[in-house]
Amino acid sequence: MDRVERIFRQGGAVLEGHFLLTSGRHSPVYWEKMRVLQQPRLTTRLCRPITYHFRDQGVEVVVGPTLGGVPLAFEVARQLGVRSAYADREGEERTIRGGQLLAPGEKALIIDDILTTGGSLRHMVDAVEKVGARVVGIAVIVDRRLGVDTQFTLGGTPVFATHRSPAPSYPPEKCPLCKASVPLEKLGGKK
Ligand SMILES: [Zn+2]
Repeated sequence: MDRVERIFRQGGAVLEGHFLLTSGRHSPVYWEKMRVLQQPRLTTRLCRPITYHFRDQGVEVVVGPTLGGVPLAFEVARQLGVRSAYADREGEERTIRGGQLLAPGEKALIIDDILTTGGSLRHMVDAVEKVGARVVGIAVIVDRRLGVDTQFTLGGTPVFATHRSPAPSYPPEKCPLCKASVPLEKLGGKK
């Protein structure tokens, strides 16, 4: 078992059953990231490969989206000895608000928990660039894109993933769990 999967299992975050994913597909397994991110010790372990990967890139600030990106940005920033910042939802987009300091030209590392389509990361890049900072790296814990085995890149920046595992999933009409009349659960994800 991969180390990231081991951490998720230790956190009781690997749920098995019959789940409705945000994509509309059905899956027999669901990784509830918040169960891991609620535990600082597990979050510390999850973040280590990211810190290691970006340790010589001159990162000055680590930026994550609410909600899962908050503990991740905090922890990677702590490990790198730099600042962290958070981007809130604003309609479909993201924005860095409040009294958070981000200087123009500052080198920013963007971090998120799970990559499914890259839409959320794209909004993060916009939010960072809007305040004049420069994106020098992008990292995610889990790359869950379906049917691809290439590295995801965004505006020429490769996205570093600590784990790649597409969730097994089916369109509802082909779902074996639906055929077996297993009750469908709706969990987590975006509203
Ligand atoms: Zn189903």
